[in-house]
Amino acid sequence: MHELSIAQSIIKIVTQDMPKHNLTKVDSITLRIGEITQIMPDALLFGFECLSKDTSLDGTKLIIETVPVKGHCKTCGQDFVFEDWPHGCPECGQTDIRIISGRELEIVEFEGS
Ligand SMILES: [Zn+2]
Repeated sequence: MHELSIAQSIIKIVTQDMPKHNLTKVDSITLRIGEITQIMPDALLFGFECLSKDTSLDGTKLIIETVPVKGHCKTCGQDFVFEDWPHGCPECGQTDIRIISGRELEIVEFEGS
C-alpha cells in the first residue's frame, strides 16, 4: 500500500528532525500533497495513525493540504486547473501541456513542544 510507505517516511523524517528543533512531542504535521500523486488522504491518515502508535508521534495530528493539478498549455500559453485529470487544454484542446503544480508531496511544517 502506497500510503503506508509514505506514512512510514513521514514518521522517519519528523522523528529524525525532532532533536534539531528541541521537540519531545509533535502536535501537528502539515503536508502538501498534489492531486496527481493519487494519494488518498484518508488512507494516509489511517496509515499514519497505525504506524505512529507507540512512537514519539503517537497522537500527532496530520494536516493534509491538497494541491490541485495545474497545467500550462504550450500551444496557446494558457494556465489552468485540471478539473478532471487527464485532459487537454480547456482553451484549445491541445494536449502538449506542462504540469505546473500537483506533484507535491512534502512536509510543510511540524509543530510541537
Ligand atoms: Zn491551449
